Amino acid sequence: MESVIVAIDGPSGTGKSSTSRAVAAELGLSYLDTGAQYRAITWWMLTNGIDVDDPGAVAAVCGKPVIESGTDPLAPAISVDGADAAGPIRTREVTSKVSAVSAVPEVRTRITELQRAIAAAAEKGIVVEGRDIGTTVLPGADVKIFLTASPEARAARRSGELKGKEAADLASTREALIRRDAADSSRKASPLAKADDAVEVDTTDLTLQQVIECVVALVEEKRAAR
Ligand code: C5P
Repeated sequence: MESVIVAIDGPSGTGKSSTSRAVAAELGLSYLDTGAQYRAITWWMLTNGIDVDDPGAVAAVCGKPVIESGTDPLAPAISVDGADAAGPIRTREVTSKVSAVSAVPEVRTRITELQRAIAAAAEKGIVVEGRDIGTTVLPGADVKIFLTASPEARAARRSGELKGKEAADLASTREALIRRDAADSSRKASPLAKADDAVEVDTTDLTLQQVIECVVALVEEKRAAR
């Protein structure tokens, strides 16, 4: 079977991660969570006392951390300088700062290079999820999907993922999510956007299983047409 590259983009809370992991597992493909990489570099900046609201300061040091991503969809992993970062990158502090860091062009150039190298090394192919995969990172991807959902559905899903102290009420989750999407969509360097040739899937009224089936069908269709 020829290798296949699947790009899945969209705002937060649309089910991108769950869908991407399940599709990769079902089709025997590798998986890359590009949001985790931006979160990892943000976490490194915060733990090293870098002022993340100063793009010059962020740009000056963004080549320093060694970020490694696992590509097994059944066991996604991310480390920074050899330390497991899977937990720390999900804190509310990182979530609130990641858009500022990911807007810095030097950060994007560095992380985009990492992403392209990982995709090129995936022998059977890969599902890559993010915000700019279909437009910028892998514009030649075989299948491009853009997931959307209403702000209410996205906030409800995101609230369900947050636990314990990090859990927020629905209204503040919705507000934070809209603020992050606005920042990600309006930045100059490769903003969150649908590629012209991406298939848009509105997940508001779909179950996760339905979204997975829809994406798997699109990939199979593409393979059959080759
Ligand atoms: O997907 P996730 O919510 O973990 O992404 C965290 C942040 O990483 C996004 O809000 C965005 O600022 C950044 N990101 C990006 N480009 C990508 C993936 C994520 O700028 N391809």
